[in-house]
Amino acid sequence: MIILRSVRLRLTLWYVLLLAIILAGFSAGIYLLLRHDLYGNLDDSIQNRANTFMDVIRYEEDQPTLAGRVSSDDPNAGESFVRVFDASGGITFDNSAVAGDVPTDSQGIDRALRGETSTRTVTADGDTMRVRTLPIERGDGIGGVLQVGQSQDDVSDTLQALLLILAVAYPVTLAVASFGGAFLAGRALSPIDRLTGLARRISAEDLSQRLNLKLPDDEVGRLARTFDEMIARLDEAFRRQREFTADASHELRTPLTAIKGQAEVALSKPRDAAAYREVLQTVNEEVDRLIRLVGSLLTLARADAGQISIASEAVNLPELIAAAVEQVRPVMGQRDVELHLEPGPAVTLRADEDLLLQLLLNLLDNAGKHTPSGGRVTVGWAVTEGQVEAWVRDTGVGIATEHLPHIFDRFYRVDKARSRTVGGAGLGLSICRWIAEAHGGSISAESALGEGTAFVVKLPVGARAAAS
Ligand code: ADP
Repeated sequence: MIILRSVRLRLTLWYVLLLAIILAGFSAGIYLLLRHDLYGNLDDSIQNRANTFMDVIRYEEDQPTLAGRVSSDDPNAGESFVRVFDASGGITFDNSAVAGDVPTDSQGIDRALRGETSTRTVTADGDTMRVRTLPIERGDGIGGVLQVGQSQDDVSDTLQALLLILAVAYPVTLAVASFGGAFLAGRALSPIDRLTGLARRISAEDLSQRLNLKLPDDEVGRLARTFDEMIARLDEAFRRQREFTADASHELRTPLTAIKGQAEVALSKPRDAAAYREVLQTVNEEVDRLIRLVGSLLTLARADAGQISIASEAVNLPELIAAAVEQVRPVMGQRDVELHLEPGPAVTLRADEDLLLQLLLNLLDNAGKHTPSGGRVTVGWAVTEGQVEAWVRDTGVGIATEHLPHIFDRFYRVDKARSRTVGGAGLGLSICRWIAEAHGGSISAESALGEGTAFVVKLPVGARAAAS
């Protein structure tokens, strides 16, 4: 049903259908109520007339009759009649001739002679009459029967007029409501059409565009703003993705170019074994660098894709820190950097031991790389309010304030040329941050240029891994 794909049409149809049902119920209600009232009034009026006639019943030779005052002068003549029957059912008074040939209703007369009043609707000469038959009480017995009839035509005419009005008003109201409903639905939905048209123009290639619709703060306005916010986030995500790909390609190219250069130089003329050995050594170092880089890239890509499952195991933090310190101690020794482990409280974390070790080794490695000989690296931890704080502090070169907010960004290096010589691609700290956050924690850095840097990792003690 292609046509029903329009919300406007569907809304209008629902609205009209609902209105049709309500109007039909309302009209039927009015009609039935009026009909009930009008017939009730007619019956009351007949009863009143009957009461009046009862008062003027006279007996002539034991036969009940009316005092003769009811004649064709009666204002109701032609529309009503009155009959009187004696105790044996014989007619003693009848002016029904003026109201057409109304049947006598012998059943009603029999019932009246038994003391019961009855009312019937009869048709005479095309006229519909309401006929009431009542007993005429005389002493303890029944002296005869009074029958009063009145035409229903007035009531029928009124009801027919009402039906006619309703029959005209019903479709007219529905038609007006349909047009009104379609107009209002169209007005309410037109911004959505505009929104769709604009949204269609915003493609993945041109995420810089925004709807920027000036709409009030209603459902449609909020939809348009949410759409703009979503496009902004997508734009940012695409931008980061492009940057990441460009940076990664650049970082991969550097060692590959170095390897290619070494190979070309080696192949340019015959050389002795020692020269080849030297080239192979350089190539080997570059390949190591490539392996580390690809490893880091893989870690970040899998972390982004949520593919790394984070274990939640009991980790003895002091032991883990001690193990990390021992692992880097020889390298620090070679660089003549003093490594100091501060004593701390016993604490067990629920965390992924391998990832925490990687985080600590990254921080220690950085501290070692950026601390000149004679410097000092201090490692410690403390427990505060259900969280563990571990720090790696050095007396190294420090980080300038303008760089500090960016050092956890991917591929961010403070001094590109210098850092490359010590082997980093600017991914270490972004991996550290991911590990800390994946555990529901955080990492921060404080630094003073020329004095040193401190990295602080905060982890919840009992927290399970925050991401999986
Ligand atoms: P890389 O792998 O290149 O070391 P990182 O992400 O680990 O990259 O670090 C980003 C930058 O932060 C580095 O280029 C370095 O300049 C700076 N940095 C990190 N740790 C320290 C530190 N302890 N002292 C001074 N600078 C640091």
